Amino acid sequence: MDLGITGRTALVTGGDSGIGWETARILLDEGATVVLSDQDADSLAEAAARLDAPEGRLHHVAADLSTDEAVKELAASVTDLVGDLDILVQSAGITGAQGLFHEIDDEGWTTTLTVDLLAPIRLTRAFLPGLRRGGWGRIVYLASEDAVQPYDDELPYCAAKAGVLAFAKGLSRTYAEEGLLVNCVSPAFIKTPMTDAMMEKRSKEIGSSVDEAIESFLDEERPYMELGRRGLPEEVASVVAFLCSDRASFVNGSNYRVDSGSVATI
Ligand code: NAP
Repeated sequence: MDLGITGRTALVTGGDSGIGWETARILLDEGATVVLSDQDADSLAEAAARLDAPEGRLHHVAADLSTDEAVKELAASVTDLVGDLDILVQSAGITGAQGLFHEIDDEGWTTTLTVDLLAPIRLTRAFLPGLRRGGWGRIVYLASEDAVQPYDDELPYCAAKAGVLAFAKGLSRTYAEEGLLVNCVSPAFIKTPMTDAMMEKRSKEIGSSVDEAIESFLDEERPYMELGRRGLPEEVASVVAFLCSDRASFVNGSNYRVDSGSVATI
């Protein structure tokens, strides 16, 4: 299926690994010009090189999205490189502070909410004028199953991602008539550095191999993931790319679950 985005400009945050990198790969294959962003300049450059994109169609700009100032600087750099954006994919994120509520201090909450909720809001504010100007735009936020099925050992992450869903839904009402469509994708337990780190930590805690930690996590913590395995980043990226496309022209304000059934409700 041709996604109809040849010549469109896209920014993918969280782009040096996982879901963001795979999304950038598909958008490039589909003919878009992509700016890849992440916080570590070296691994970002290496990730961009691995994409092996045609000359002039891939740029990379490092930015730590923890402050509004850095987000504004990113917006200025991106605009210098490619002009107005047509597509914004917000994939940067952290697991953030973990533990039960009484074990998480204010700093844990602030750090998590800053990256997982405020950064998407700030990015949207910074890029909105350009996204509106073209009369065609797509914003996709990576939320999470945790937004609607919160787990009590990562409440800051759950609250941030629930905030993203509410923000995206509200935002989708404002600009749709102008052609700017806003949607979310909510994965569960995808094989990326984020869950690699979670599983390494779990394997140490329970004294097992990483593979055994994954198996016990699926059995005990994610019983409704009916496929019985971690998802692959490309299995999420294909849905993100669809939502970035001209094919998704009647999809707005939605939250696509890519979780093999993890969220137990309909
Ligand atoms: P990932 O490979 O770790 O990607 C997240 C990226 O965000 C990393 O490259 C990370 O950089 C970057 N990042 C973190 N803090 C940042 C900051 N302050 N400024 C700029 N970039 C920052 O993980 P992923 O699984 O692909 O995650 C992508 C998105 O999907 C996230 O929003 C995540 O919450 C969401 N999600 C993932 C899963 C899953 O199972 N993997 C499930 C539900 C939702 P560093 O590597 O330098 O830290």
